[in-house]
Amino acid sequence: MSRVVVTGGAGFLGSHLCRALLDRGDEVVALDNLITGSVANIEELFGRTGFTYVDHDVSRYVWVPGAVDAVLHFASPASPADFERIPIQILKVGGLGTHNCLGLAKAKGATFFLASTSEVYGSPEVHPQPESYWGHVNPIGPRGVYDEAKRYAEAMTMAYHRHHGIDVRIARIFNSYGAQMRADDGRAVSNFLVQAIGGRPITIYGDGEQTRSFCYVDDEVRGLLALLDSGVTTPVNIGNPNEHTVDELARIVLDVTGSSSPIVHEPLPIDDPPQRQPDISVARSELGWEPVVELRDGIERTAAYFSGLLR
Ligand code: UDP
Repeated sequence: MSRVVVTGGAGFLGSHLCRALLDRGDEVVALDNLITGSVANIEELFGRTGFTYVDHDVSRYVWVPGAVDAVLHFASPASPADFERIPIQILKVGGLGTHNCLGLAKAKGATFFLASTSEVYGSPEVHPQPESYWGHVNPIGPRGVYDEAKRYAEAMTMAYHRHHGIDVRIARIFNSYGAQMRADDGRAVSNFLVQAIGGRPITIYGDGEQTRSFCYVDDEVRGLLALLDSGVTTPVNIGNPNEHTVDELARIVLDVTGSSSPIVHEPLPIDDPPQRQPDISVARSELGWEPVVELRDGIERTAAYFSGLLR
């Protein structure tokens, strides 16, 4: 049994991670300032043995009393819609927040785990993306606030690893989806499902031929825990290698929900990557992990969540 700090513990991935850690018998201290997270995501965890929640902005000094075995830094707004709305907070939680959480891990002799992102590859010129690819990022565009914060966070993590000998993990997370995404998150999966269920037009940005590789949350969390439990201190892509166009995603959502919502096209956001697909050879060989949930199956499960939420 371990005592684990999860920042962003009330967020989409953070809350699933807290639940999975409790399920395997770990103690969890969840930190969140609820800027994009929600208490509703962790409501059922409050009664569970070993769960503590602290309302805290990790961009400010972080302290957790008692022993800590691992610090999992999942706090960060992560939707392109957030990049426009709260850019400074994103830079702060990726920069100052990562530094504070590394400081906590160092003080406790704990493992530090960074939730990094496929966005470190920017608009990739190498396809699919292996961890060895350095990326193609526009530092001053609207996505730069997230991409560069996470690139800085990776650099800071590796500096603590090399300079202070901290045990570290870096997960590069590719588009993940499932229950507890925000209904107004602005992502393709949540937007399309909310639009289809509500009978409103499905908003495809651009021509819909851009691709993403969507990973169902249960697969994602299983991969993250496999990485945590491994000794791999270099970045690992944790994502589903099955690549789909945004147009295909919209059609699956329409089919699964039985909705007759029309598809409308809206302008493509600036620097929206035309292609994204993880090379997961490292995860397969080092962690013995790969996703098993097909997109249609995961969308069915996520549709059930949003139907309940919007009822
Ligand atoms: N997208 C879309 N309609 C929406 C929301 C997103 O067509 O209502 C597109 C977006 O332009 C991108 C893809 O879907 O090409 C995935 O977007 P998302 O925000 O889910 O994640 P991203 O990979 O861009 O961070």
